[in-house]
Amino acid sequence: MGGAYTGRILFVDLLSGKQRVEELSEEYVKTYIGGYGIGAKILYELVRPDADPLGPDNAIGFMSGLLNGTGALFGGRYTVVCKSPVTNGWNDANSGGFFGPELKKAGYDGLIVTGASQKPVYIYINDGKAEIRDASNLWGKDTVQTLEGLIEETGEKKLRAAIIGQAGEMLSLMSCVINEKHRAAGRGGCGAVMGSKRLKAIAVKGTGKFSVAKPDEFKAISSEILQSMKDGPMAGMIQGFGAFGTGGGTGGNILKGDTPVKNWGGAGETDMGPSEAEKLATLAYDDRYNTGKYACANCPLGCGAHYSVKDGKWPVPDTDRPEYETLGAFGAMMLNSNAESVIKCNDICNKYGLDTISAGATIAWAMECYENGIITKAETGDIALTWGNADAIVEMTQAIADQKGFGRILALGSEAAAKKLGKGFEYLQNARGIELPMHDPRFAPGFARTYRYDPTPGRHVKGGSGIIEMNMPPDLRYNVKDKGQMDAGNTFETEVQNSAGLCAFSNFAAPPGAMARYIAAATGWDFNEKDLLDTGKRIFNLRHAFNLKAGQDPTEDILTKRATGEPPLTEGPLKGITIDIKKQISQFCDVIGWDKETLKPTRESLEEIGGLEKVIEDLYGK
Ligand code: SF4
Repeated sequence: MGGAYTGRILFVDLLSGKQRVEELSEEYVKTYIGGYGIGAKILYELVRPDADPLGPDNAIGFMSGLLNGTGALFGGRYTVVCKSPVTNGWNDANSGGFFGPELKKAGYDGLIVTGASQKPVYIYINDGKAEIRDASNLWGKDTVQTLEGLIEETGEKKLRAAIIGQAGEMLSLMSCVINEKHRAAGRGGCGAVMGSKRLKAIAVKGTGKFSVAKPDEFKAISSEILQSMKDGPMAGMIQGFGAFGTGGGTGGNILKGDTPVKNWGGAGETDMGPSEAEKLATLAYDDRYNTGKYACANCPLGCGAHYSVKDGKWPVPDTDRPEYETLGAFGAMMLNSNAESVIKCNDICNKYGLDTISAGATIAWAMECYENGIITKAETGDIALTWGNADAIVEMTQAIADQKGFGRILALGSEAAAKKLGKGFEYLQNARGIELPMHDPRFAPGFARTYRYDPTPGRHVKGGSGIIEMNMPPDLRYNVKDKGQMDAGNTFETEVQNSAGLCAFSNFAAPPGAMARYIAAATGWDFNEKDLLDTGKRIFNLRHAFNLKAGQDPTEDILTKRATGEPPLTEGPLKGITIDIKKQISQFCDVIGWDKETLKPTRESLEEIGGLEKVIEDLYGK
């Protein structure tokens, strides 16, 4: 195989059963990098603007990152791309584990699936050879059972597979794609897109090897990263993630205002005080349940852990440690400090293939509706959705997973559920219909710009100034002067990081400039920091253009108001804070080159970036 990438994309059409391989030039890979960079380029041209996300005209891509399989530290993530059935626009969701590197080792930088099958199928790729196989015996099984079934059927003990559970089969708009039992490409309903194609799994086995162009330089960068993890400015945080996962500091996050509380209407300290908040932090119970750490491919940190809850109300002998986002969504958002109930809900979500952020946030929305008499026991099937009711939370999560009773409605996600019921709109907390993640813009204001204006709205892994502000003192956090460069710069870097298949935590672990040097050393390209920022800007514009082509108006007010403090909270750590989102987007436009009235990229800015000829033609003609 040789080199850092394969330069090959496999296309499989489930309607005709045909497959073809497209060879990519070096220039093409350098322009769009990999992951969702190449995914956006392909889907922009392939998916019709009016395609039904749950119809055969939608395409779904499984895209490895440029650095997957090269031995780059933190370089094990891949991305699922498609048109989202939640936002009706661009969707990408990335996941760790080993699937991305395995796909490359099997001979492909990405797999694009089009059409839909009549019967359940899975795609098996074994060292370059791809087959569509019958999955009737796997349909109805959860993600763990499916993986075991695939291993048995293929005889490959180290098989890697991207799988949907029953949630994706039943087209839940909160359904996701799971690999290695616990790693999730969580957001935007990509599980339902697979389900609509009756595509149960992508199973891969590969033995290919990759080489990097400048091995000594590559090795030196890895050593710098390892050193920075020991004594760099973020070493403490990184070591904390390694010891307790992302949820070690959840208690502190709730108390200082980072974690939204009570469906974004409450506040840490006042609604959830220290004694309750600290019960949710993994720090409080890790030694009780932890049965062993795990890490994604080539990760020196390893933020994952297997858990075993042996007794109590919800025993789960073989499960995984919940992430911070899950602890926020199933915990603070519902004033629920019962950690074992969150571990149980996390287990249900992973097995059935549900996004924990959307599932938890949707129940939190239903809870506020219930507490205000908008939803009654007659509708919930006697489940009392009162704040902090851990039994009700677990019962409702199972009902959503099974799509039984009221769970069938909540499986649509909060916005579609409100539409179905014709009520509860005033308590929705989302951006273009997708539930918001667990970092509050009233704490780190930059998240407001990201949640509202990223081409995948409502995400916390899209860079921007919010992620930097989280570690700033309040006077700098709330200072809105001239943050456009910081906001856009970190966004563009994140575009490349995600497309290269690097984990978001590499940001904190690696010294500045390491990513561009890693890419240059792996590929042999002349690729510096400016090239990296230009490439990120190109990928961001490409994803934005997908939404414009699909008919979305970026000026539309798609972010619900609590997140920006309209009106501001009257107590707690975020008291009195309102975000000046108009100023944020104005500063962002100055850097990216968008028209401030229409929020469309100007022709000049697109021409300057290059590699966006089709976008220019669609927006401005030839
Ligand atoms: S830090 Fe965690 S999510 Fe990131 S690559 Fe390592 S194990 Fe995977």
